[in-house]
Amino acid sequence: MIVAYSSFIKNQLLIDGEWCLSADEKTFAVVNPATGEPIAQVANATPADATRAIDAAVRAQITWAEKAANERSRLLRCWFDLVMQNQEALAQLLTLEQGKPLAEARAEIAYGASYIEWFAEEAKRIYGDVIPPLANNQRIHVIKQPVGVVAAITPWNFPCAMLARKLAPALAAGCAVVAKPAAETPLSALALAQLALEAGIPAGVINILPSAHAQAIGVEFTTNTHVRKLSFTGSTAVGKTLIAQCAPGVKRITLELGGNAPFIVFDDADLDAAVAGAIAAKFRNAGQTCVCANRFYIHQSVYDLFCQKLTAGMQALKLGNGFDDEVTVGPLISLRAKEKVQGFVDDAVRRGARIAFQTPIQNSFQAHPAGHGAQDNFFAPTVLVDVTQDARLACEEIFGPVIGLIPFATEVQAIQLANASDYGLAAYFYTRDTNRIKRLCDQLQTGMVGVNTGLISNAAAPFGGIKQSGWGREGSRYGLDDYLDIKYLCETFS
Ligand code: ADP
Repeated sequence: MIVAYSSFIKNQLLIDGEWCLSADEKTFAVVNPATGEPIAQVANATPADATRAIDAAVRAQITWAEKAANERSRLLRCWFDLVMQNQEALAQLLTLEQGKPLAEARAEIAYGASYIEWFAEEAKRIYGDVIPPLANNQRIHVIKQPVGVVAAITPWNFPCAMLARKLAPALAAGCAVVAKPAAETPLSALALAQLALEAGIPAGVINILPSAHAQAIGVEFTTNTHVRKLSFTGSTAVGKTLIAQCAPGVKRITLELGGNAPFIVFDDADLDAAVAGAIAAKFRNAGQTCVCANRFYIHQSVYDLFCQKLTAGMQALKLGNGFDDEVTVGPLISLRAKEKVQGFVDDAVRRGARIAFQTPIQNSFQAHPAGHGAQDNFFAPTVLVDVTQDARLACEEIFGPVIGLIPFATEVQAIQLANASDYGLAAYFYTRDTNRIKRLCDQLQTGMVGVNTGLISNAAAPFGGIKQSGWGREGSRYGLDDYLDIKYLCETFS
């Protein structure tokens, strides 16, 4: 492999177009989750840095919003081109700090970039409205304006795409952003911002604050009155805290929170397609995505056959360092994450489940010899059978490569089981019955439904959840609404 990422390792804060140290000049370590080796010491933003970044964003936002929409569009397009031209370097950096296989990292860079491209185009189509008035001496106009300064908090599972999905619509709308990436993966965010500067996006429009002081930065983001909107992707628990913190200031919020996606396979399904969909929906990013299939409901008449086909399909999975070309499943992000996933498996087994299959673990050690002696974050892809609905892995987000199979008898029961969750992000089902497709699409209580597919994310579609999975949508034309205020103009004539 030709190492391409070196020039993209930035280890300082980006405030007002300048790379700088944190106010207290402290740093924190970013570590390769596959090997435990340190990658960089990164400036650790303090709340005072956040305040400074917000002040810079306030100034920058005014002139950014004054630019003609096609000028903002042109700069976003230029940024998109630079991201794609540097796809390989950015993908390597992503694998280095996040662990996902390089092929998936390349796909994430393209996926993140696709939001920049999409919103470069949407920037020109922020239409208003003219409404027929109730009195004929009046004229009613509706215009849309940027909300102002946006604070963004992003997770470590898609460090490039989750940030691009917020920055692109915010910038298209005419907002400026202060962003705090996850402390595990700040390098991809800094690299993305570096390319934005190179593309000509003005100083202060994008500010990046890597920080290990998540809570304190969150308090500044949510209480600073100059911040008009918060966009958060992460856990439901932190989302609830942020809602409470935003309440006194009545700050607008977009939340992409946890999921607990059901994956239903009916007896009339194409089982080979369902197995391929299950593997795609479960093992991408080692199971660490919020739309990962989390609960597998399989019709009792095809339960054994599905399990057989699934375990046969999983023979092709290879666990190891994401830089190894053959590897399809990388490490989990941390030892804590691994222990959590192990806890789900142990709990299911205590309740009567049985491990039907596990990918051979030695692959990981062969693939990352440099990791010997370092902590081992690898978790073998696992299938459990006879899982009960009360098992923790059926109730909570697993965030790991574990499939628990639960049998069901009827369509009504499958829908009830699927909807018996506080979460409502994604759902997947496989069937050939067109009437059943209609019934499930109507009745499943989630923001997104995959019908005979395990992959649903793309820039053209509105990504988001209902129930405790969040508020608002990202991507598509709906994704701009969260960054726009509606202003109604009432003109009266004599
Ligand atoms: P995960 O458990 O997957 O890491 P989190 O919700 O804890 O999910 O993290 C998502 C993002 O939220 C990260 O950038 C993290 O640093 C940040 N975060 C965590 N706790 C808080 C908090 N109390 N206030 C603001 N941001 C937080």
